[in-house]
Amino acid sequence: MRIGIGYDIHRFGHEPPLVLGGVEIPDAPRLEGHSDGDALLHAVADAVLGAAAVGDIGVHFPDDDPRWKDADSALILSGALRLAREQRRLRPVNADVNVVAERPRLAEYRDAIRARLAGLLELPLEAVGVKARTAEGLGPVGRGEAIEVHAAVLME
Ligand code: MG
Repeated sequence: MRIGIGYDIHRFGHEPPLVLGGVEIPDAPRLEGHSDGDALLHAVADAVLGAAAVGDIGVHFPDDDPRWKDADSALILSGALRLAREQRRLRPVNADVNVVAERPRLAEYRDAIRARLAGLLELPLEAVGVKARTAEGLGPVGRGEAIEVHAAVLME
């Protein structure tokens, strides 16, 4: 068994939709980023790469590579899973994710995000946790300028 942790933070842009965990949230602005800005999938991909000890998302999916411009971050997560499988023969066992966001309210999207993430990780729903909290008004996340995501993924 090996564990990996991942972290990401993205600033809000201006135009909807927000894409988080591969789920479109139409009433919130998208996150800025070279790809689709999906900080949740980026944090999970980094946790997968970390568990496998094969570098990080910046090494494998560089943000100056035109291939990843506006890319669906599900492709980044799939690529990370492929690296872990091919180089270390590792597959996910479970994943836990913390989303820190002052806006939008994520409660109504949590089940959809969990289901999408479980699908991408090829895990049963009960092996994927998605928690959401605010930053209590503190810092850039608390001011509603950004979303921050922490992830842990266990692999075997
Ligand atoms: Mg990112």
